[in-house]
Amino acid sequence: MLLAATAAPPSIELQVDLREAPRRRFHATLSIPVSPGPATLVYPKWIPGEHGPTGPLVDLAGLRISAGGAPVAWVRDAEDLFAFRVVVPPGATRLEVSLDALEPAAGTSGFSSGSSETPRLALLSWNHVLLYPKGADPRTLQFKAGVTLPEGWSFGTALPVARRDGARVQFEAASLETLVDSPVLAGRHITSTALGTPGGPPHTLVVAADSPEAAVVPPEFKAQLDRLVAESGALFGARHYRGYTFLLTLSDFVTSFGLEHHESSDDRMGERGLLDPPNRPLVGGLLAHEFVHSWNGKHRRPAGLATRDFQEPMRGDLLWVYEGLTQYYGQVLAARSGLQGGGGFTEVLAQEVGEMTAHAGRTWRPLGDTAVAAQLLYGARTDGTAWRRSIDFYPEGALLWLEVDVLIRQRSKGARSLDDFARAFFGGVNGPPSVRVYLLDDVLAALDAVAPNDWRGFFAERVDRVRAAPPLAGLEAGGWAYDFAPEPGPLAKASAAASGATNLSASLGLVLSKESTIVDVVPGSPADGAGVAAGARLLGVNGRALSKERLEDAVAGSATGVPVELLVLDADIFLTAKLDYQGGPRHPALKRDTARPDLLGAIAAPRVPPPAAAPAPAPGRN
Ligand SMILES: [Zn+2]
Repeated sequence: MLLAATAAPPSIELQVDLREAPRRRFHATLSIPVSPGPATLVYPKWIPGEHGPTGPLVDLAGLRISAGGAPVAWVRDAEDLFAFRVVVPPGATRLEVSLDALEPAAGTSGFSSGSSETPRLALLSWNHVLLYPKGADPRTLQFKAGVTLPEGWSFGTALPVARRDGARVQFEAASLETLVDSPVLAGRHITSTALGTPGGPPHTLVVAADSPEAAVVPPEFKAQLDRLVAESGALFGARHYRGYTFLLTLSDFVTSFGLEHHESSDDRMGERGLLDPPNRPLVGGLLAHEFVHSWNGKHRRPAGLATRDFQEPMRGDLLWVYEGLTQYYGQVLAARSGLQGGGGFTEVLAQEVGEMTAHAGRTWRPLGDTAVAAQLLYGARTDGTAWRRSIDFYPEGALLWLEVDVLIRQRSKGARSLDDFARAFFGGVNGPPSVRVYLLDDVLAALDAVAPNDWRGFFAERVDRVRAAPPLAGLEAGGWAYDFAPEPGPLAKASAAASGATNLSASLGLVLSKESTIVDVVPGSPADGAGVAAGARLLGVNGRALSKERLEDAVAGSATGVPVELLVLDADIFLTAKLDYQGGPRHPALKRDTARPDLLGAIAAPRVPPPAAAPAPAPGRN
């Protein structure tokens, strides 16, 4: 006899109306299969990749629940505010839910709960617009989702499309995990560019911008991304996605950040990210970082970050692997792909050393604590950053993994490198998204297989204990020394131009915002010694009203013995601060130490031969 096949559990249907996205409102309706009796629906709280309880619950509005056309009362759990309790009436098999997500206007910080819409584009993070039954497994709970686009808009996403009927797009059924991992970028001005070479899963760059010209992908940039795809293949040896889509938003009115997903990334920069050549290395660095996460963070994930559902708290103690190693390989792959120009690799490392030197909080807080406390530090104020420390597991993590890479290269006399670890740990077999969790012991064992060492002791010293100085051993053994230059490098200049900030951490010991607010003061620096406090406004320098040029002149003049005197307004009190500083302009840089082989050069060298350059045109006659 035949057993009846088990029927697949019914799917949740979700329709999101994006037609009011230009006004920063998403309208959603859900149809959720249920059984009669008490039930609890939950709103996603812990958002993967954000490493914190960042689901924008406060912006959930217009919540109405019904069954068979009759309203069903809901009550919020008084302890777990993300949970809504209902009693499903007898005979009902589905709950109909309607809700709105209020999306913030420009100027909001945060990740996907930050500013994500303008009148011309929108980034839909599905976790903003859904509830799901408490206790359900996001890996198996199926959603049939669709969107209605504003008139004349197009879209990009990693979600496979089932059908499109004008403005209505229906996606293929996907698990809740995949849905939340697959945002939709929509907009009026949108381009889609195929990347990479034929063979293997497809790679696509989707750009939505506030103007049509800003969404155009320059051919050189596309060629560099083609190389990024090739270099990632050479590094990891396998891909864990059906296809990969970079969703790049270019707008001055969305929050700038990157958020990794398994088959896509949500990458956001200012409108002129591709239009202005100096900005392209910044965009390239962001895309490379988020792409590496498809392997490190999505496919391989620390057990503490691979939670059962979106309600279970995450543990960030291994973020120095998840983010720190991604930071390192994002920089390495950007260098190998040509995305950051010739000096980009050493410039970024110099910036990281400079920042980690300025973070005097390292004298009380071990690196590992910045990872455990990530959910606090991501949202911390900017004043006090140097003494509090910040999400230092990114920049210091990169320096730490550089040290590991250099150590392996030296111990194996150049036969092996961290690339061998990356291939063994993150590679494997090509296929659709899969998650393999790990513990610290797994990382140590995989490193030991590449180069035997007391890795446990190595990381305990650098991660768990307080260290007065950032890890420089990788740089130094790699043939470079930390130094200062009178001018910032091109990447630092482009960042400063984009943010309007002035970073004088390595000279006077302060950082100024675009509005001349003192964002932070480095403990032990000349500004600190003169009593300057973060949060005050800088109004004047050396007896005259502040201008960028006068401040630069004053810093330069310090080297000739002219003291630097700052006029500061703190609350409603004017203060004059005389700084004990004679060092002139100083910006983090690396200097080549020719007594040692250039291992940084070897690390940054392409593994895939770049395409032969086109022959230069013959010189013209006129
Ligand atoms: Zn990251």
